[in-house]
Amino acid sequence: MTKPHVVIIGAGFGGLACAKALGNSDVRVTVIDRRNHNLFQPLLYQVATAALSPADVSEPIRRTLARYDNIRVLMGEVSGIDVEAKQALLADGARISYDRLVIATGSEYNYFGHPDWHKHAPGLKSVHEARQIRHRLLLAFERAERSTDESEKRRLLTSVVVGGGPTGVEMAGAISELGTFMIANDFDSLAHDQFRVLLVEAGPRILAGFPEDLADYAANYLTRIGVEIRLESAVEEIEATRIRIAGEWLPAGSIVWGAGVKASPAAHWLGVEPGAAGRIPVKADLTVPGRPGIYALGDTALTLGADEKPLPALAQVAKQQGTYLGKALRAELLSGRTPGPFAFHNRGNTAVIGRNAAIFDFGRWHLKGRLAWFLWAIVHVWLLVNFEKRLLVSIQWVWRYATRQRGARLIDEDAADQLRSVP
Ligand SMILES: Cc1cc2nc3c(=O)[nH]c(=O)nc-3n(C[C@H](O)[C@H](O)[C@H](O)COP(=O)(O)OP(=O)(O)OC[C@H]3O[C@@H](n4cnc5c(N)ncnc54)[C@H](O)[C@@H]3O)c2cc1C
Repeated sequence: MTKPHVVIIGAGFGGLACAKALGNSDVRVTVIDRRNHNLFQPLLYQVATAALSPADVSEPIRRTLARYDNIRVLMGEVSGIDVEAKQALLADGARISYDRLVIATGSEYNYFGHPDWHKHAPGLKSVHEARQIRHRLLLAFERAERSTDESEKRRLLTSVVVGGGPTGVEMAGAISELGTFMIANDFDSLAHDQFRVLLVEAGPRILAGFPEDLADYAANYLTRIGVEIRLESAVEEIEATRIRIAGEWLPAGSIVWGAGVKASPAAHWLGVEPGAAGRIPVKADLTVPGRPGIYALGDTALTLGADEKPLPALAQVAKQQGTYLGKALRAELLSGRTPGPFAFHNRGNTAVIGRNAAIFDFGRWHLKGRLAWFLWAIVHVWLLVNFEKRLLVSIQWVWRYATRQRGARLIDEDAADQLRSVP
């Protein structure tokens, strides 16, 4: 008898957890991803701010799944699904047949109808974007060091972070620390009062998803380390060297986007009506209504929690759903058992604001400061990371961060070429 075939699209937090739960079973599994590596997105901002290297936050998918004999990994971009023929369609024309299909394609940044802003204000979704941001920040400092024009110096040393959610807060804090470090240690002709970091938020407060006391702590901490917070300030226009916020043009050396995500276009592939943020509405067992044998999870799926509110787009949700679905498919395909519904166990919500400063929302418990940072570093990173040797990797991350190493202050040669265009 041929073994049932499960195809998983996307080897992020959810897809990998699902594959692992099906590992070394009598189910054939094919994992398809357009990247060859799994990316630990929660630490991408540290790559963008030169604290970590790309290889510290990514691991080849083949390596992660090498120990499972029943799992095949394919690198390829899925561009559609033939629901009738039960096939995933790849952009290069290949078709991969499935008995069960798991869609775990995550999300992308939402530029709210202005896709052209992306080139001036990259988000933090890939190694490429993190490196782009790092190059822009470091190049701006190099150019400022050489500039003799005071206003140009100030422009180059101004960074604007759009979006006051966890990513924006983490980025603003990390840029402020990086700039302060470089001005103190690396650049003789730059002064701290020429350096500016702005965090721009359209809503009335930052960290809207966190309790108010924790958001207040974060705002105070950021202000203390020199970040200017602009609330109720919508971004209206972005160009290469400036940004218009609430009617005012601000010259800027680097702009970073962190203002909300939308799901991958998978709802469109299935021809289903997308829910909020383009997510695929799924039932409690993660099946897509009206599409037998197809499941969706993680950022690209819209699942309701016990309180009937949508579960947030978080790694811990994706990872728990992946493990649940892998086990459920294993039980269903190999023993004919129907699994119960998925139940999310909240491990707490956290954001890092700076070195040794974080907030941790655990329902009734609200932690802030050094203890919250320590908990984030140990528990959150440990719980989320998919990598082999995760103890070693976690210790390395925490050590580098705690010792203020900014060892990844590298500008690639192709990015350095841009400097040649400076008169
Ligand atoms: C900067 C940042 C910081 C974050 N910090 C935290 C945090 O501290 N805590 C937390 O819980 N969450 C955090 N998140 C959210 C978390 O990263 C996501 O919720 C999580 O990655 C979702 O997992 P997923 O499996 O749904 O998608 P992902 O992990 O994004 O994986 C999707 C995978 O699908 C692949 N893919 C996409 N489209 C295709 C296609 N067409 N064909 C083939 N492959 C495809 C991608 O290459 C990727 O490997 C953060 C996110 C960002 C961007």
